[in-house]
Amino acid sequence: MNVATVLQHKGGNVVTARPDSSIAEICNLLRSARIGAVIISPDRVRVEGIVSERDIVRALAEHGAAALSKTAADLMTRGVITCAPDEDVAGLMTVMTTGRFRHVPVCDEGVLVGIVSIGDVVRVRVEEIEHEAEALRTYVTQG
Ligand code: AMP
Repeated sequence: MNVATVLQHKGGNVVTARPDSSIAEICNLLRSARIGAVIISPDRVRVEGIVSERDIVRALAEHGAAALSKTAADLMTRGVITCAPDEDVAGLMTVMTTGRFRHVPVCDEGVLVGIVSIGDVVRVRVEEIEHEAEALRTYVTQG
């Protein structure tokens, strides 16, 4: 299954924040949208960075409560690894495991069109494996 098919099921909605948003605002976004990472973008089109709950925990450990008044631009990871809609989900799982991150924004010719999380990837892989097992069962019992 490719990334475009995953987005058809889950939708292309991506929660973004501007680089000058405070970390307190980012925390509120993460809480209200019940997600683990926010894409940082000045225009909701171009991916400039990503702030995940892991970045916030690290900043809290380093700076205490002062971390909350820092900006997204202060904490974000730049050079975000993105994927294209035609990429295979199985390959994306390897990218996430090797890179040790759980979110990959989807860009189509430089335009942000969605985001895939490790949860989405695992769900798809489990469904694929269940379908394969079902096909094998049918083959064995009817063969
Ligand atoms: P995560 O596992 O997604 O919460 O992120 C772990 C760390 O990797 C954090 O420092 C994130 O900012 C960073 N990160 C998350 N997603 C990506 C990505 N697609 N490309 C590069 N860094 C990322």
